[in-house]
Amino acid sequence: MNAKQYYEQNKAIRDTWAAKQKRRCMKCHSPDQWPGLQIHEMEQKSAAPRSWLDPCNFLLLCQRDHEGFHNGNTRDSHIEQLRVKIREDAEHFSLGKWLTLRPRGEDYITMEDLSEN
Ligand SMILES: [Zn+2]
Repeated sequence: MNAKQYYEQNKAIRDTWAAKQKRRCMKCHSPDQWPGLQIHEMEQKSAAPRSWLDPCNFLLLCQRDHEGFHNGNTRDSHIEQLRVKIREDAEHFSLGKWLTLRPRGEDYITMEDLSEN
């Protein structure tokens, strides 16, 4: 696959997923307004180059919250992001799948960690 084909496949997967979501930020629920909602990958492409492109890895965010999550690429931030995923996009939430995007301990985060209590 050349770079252009890769880009187009990537865009199609992201656009198809985004079209199913409400037009608001998944974290703060602000409406879709300038500069527009952005697709965030919870596991970054640089850390998971062959597996990051999966709807279980996406959040739709306002620019402010997108920047906030990028400033905290930590386990605590991943727990917060996965809680947003469960609440806003249960259809594509899969902790088991998400944990396989990158080689790491399967108990890096558990369902117990994601409960709000
Ligand atoms: Zn927001």
